Amino acid sequence: MSIARFWRETPRRYNLGGSKCSVCGTVYFPPRTVCPECTHHRQSIEKMTPFHLSGDGEVVSYTVVHDPAEGFEMQVPYVVALVRTVEGPTLTGQVVDVDPKDVRIGLRVHATFRKLREEGKAGVIHYGYKFAPSEEDGRPPAPRRPAAPTPAGEPSERSPTPA
Ligand SMILES: [Zn+2]
Repeated sequence: MSIARFWRETPRRYNLGGSKCSVCGTVYFPPRTVCPECTHHRQSIEKMTPFHLSGDGEVVSYTVVHDPAEGFEMQVPYVVALVRTVEGPTLTGQVVDVDPKDVRIGLRVHATFRKLREEGKAGVIHYGYKFAPSEEDGRPPAPRRPAAPTPAGEPSERSPTPA
């Protein structure tokens, strides 16, 4: 199965699957099997439960990239930000759907799944999360593509397909 098809057919993969320690409540992304926050690490092993991050967070640091990594040439300049999620973990990701000059510390964003890059002529496409400004940020940025957040035909968590 191709990677693209894998993503299309596995909506759950669009979630930010992390883990949560049911002893102290700390959330981890990527998921961890042991909680470093708990005094008795070993006791937390069986207490880690799957946890999906909401994808909501705010920019705590960012960089405007003008010298792109291979595969990102078409996207410069682009913004890579550290986003502190509402659940705690800090994620690194590209910020899209906003002019780089409008990105700022404190900008509220949410994770959206996009094509990350294509690898050469083989056309291997990688998907993953990027961040887009949240609607409620109050400062709607440059024109947003209306149907962008969800790839065409994708079922989403918010609109479950009828059984
Ligand atoms: Zn813990």
